[in-house]
Formats: sequence, C-alpha cells, structure tokens
Amino acid sequence: LLSIEHLRKSYGQNEVLKDVSLEVSAGEVVTIIGSSGSGKSTLLRCINLLEKPTAGKIIFAGKNILEKNYSLPNYRTHLGMVFQQFNLFENHDVLMNCVVGQLKVLHRTKEEASTIARKNLERVGMDRFLHAKPSQLSGGQKQRVAIARALSMDPDMLLFDEPTSALDPEMVGEVLKIMKELAQTGLTMVVVTHEMTFARDVSDRVIFMDRGVIAEEGTPEQIFQSPKEARTKTFLKRIL
Ligand code: ATP
Ligand code: MG
Repeated sequence: LLSIEHLRKSYGQNEVLKDVSLEVSAGEVVTIIGSSGSGKSTLLRCINLLEKPTAGKIIFAGKNILEKNYSLPNYRTHLGMVFQQFNLFENHDVLMNCVVGQLKVLHRTKEEASTIARKNLERVGMDRFLHAKPSQLSGGQKQRVAIARALSMDPDMLLFDEPTSALDPEMVGEVLKIMKELAQTGLTMVVVTHEMTFARDVSDRVIFMDRGVIAEEGTPEQIFQSPKEARTKTFLKRIL
C-alpha cells in the first residue's frame, strides 16, 4: 500500500531522517519505537506531508506522491492521523468534530456525514457525548473522539503519533483497547508508541529507529526476544 524509499529530511544542517526505507502492506499494523529525537514523528509527518521530505520517494498505491503533478489533496484523503495532543476543534461539539472534515473534504451531505460520525463514535464508545465540547471530556475520551473523527474519513491507513503519551495512566487502557480492536478489523495502521506491550501484542512488525535511521525491524518476537543490534538491546533494556 505504501512504500517509502530512501527518504531524507533535514532541518538546516541537521539531518533527522537518513535514508529511511520502509514498506507497509494493506492490513498491516506497524509500530515504530525508539528514543526521543530519533525521528519517529518526523517520519510520520513526512508520510502525511505535514513535512516535506528533502529527498526520496513515497509510493502510494503505485504512484510517487512527491512528483510534481501528483494530487496531494487526493493523497491526504487516504490517510488519517491521530496526534498525541488530540488536536480536536475546541469550538465544535463531539459530533461536529467528526462531521466537518467529511463535509469540507469529502463533500458528503450533512445527513450522511452525521450518520457515519455517529457510527464511529459508537464504535469508540463516545456516542453518549455527541453534544459535549472537547473541554468537557477527559483525555481518554478526547482521544477516542479523535480516533472516531479519523475513521469517519474512511482512510486507507491510520497514522498514530504517541496516542497515549499525553494521557493519565488510568486512561491509556481504554485507548489501546480501541486501537487493538481496529487492528483486528484489518485497518492498516502505523503507530509510534512507547507502549511496548501494544507493540509486542498487537503489531505485525516493529521498527526500531535510532538517530534518523531504521536500526532494526522485524516481527515482535524478533525484536523483543532476540534483537540483533546492540542499540536495540540497549534501548529495550532501558525501557522494559
Ligand atoms: P519523541 O520521542 O521525543 O517524540 P521523535 O523520535 O518523534 O522524538 P522527532 O520529533 O522526529 O523525534 O525529532 C527528530 C529530530 O528532529 C530532533 O532532533 C528534533 O529536534 C528535530 N526536529 C523536529 N522537528 C523539527 C523542526 N520543525 N525544526 C527543527 N528541528 C526539528
Ligand atoms: Mg515524536
């Protein structure tokens, strides 16, 4: 579904991504782990073009989206993103948060968008809060709304950047549970996370990033039980 080839990203003199190549198949759940500053967020932000890569290719459904004549708005409709800080529209209620994108980007009717939003809010257990404002919700509830909002756009792939890192510990579980359910429905997911249990139990493949490169990747068994690289071992020892 997605193939990243020799991706590079620099901020000034600082090369943050150094020749990163990675493939994601349809239905796959890939987790990205690694120390702070290793380039995990930058990689996700390059995938959805919140950042412009300095070099390399991003091939989506057979086409390099970085080519000049490629329709980027079209590309973005295929991807959903869930952020650490939720990024909900504070002035809209829960239902509208899940409706506006559908109206503006997908040009759905209000009725259709509303039906789809309610279905997804039900899926994340937030259908009892349709008219609450984000400020009235807990962190876990906000993140569940953010997931419903992303799902309402029918993305081919969902990107998560540390979706549970801003949550109080007692709310982490409810969000991970929903992510696990989504994974089991066959949704393609790329998840940057510090939740090693999730990476181990839910993902098909784990990518360990270190200082701008993919230092090692493999199945959860390979990475967590028999890592090959010294830096993977050091990282896991520190975090587990
Ligand atoms: P964390 O686990 O802390 O979220 P990360 O792996 O997501 O870390 P990135 O946020 O991708 O790391 O940052 C990688 C490097 O790029 C860091 O050294 C950071 O300072 C730098 N960087 C990120 N965004 C910018 C920016 N907009 N301008 C300049 N430098 C940046
Ligand atoms: Mg980050």
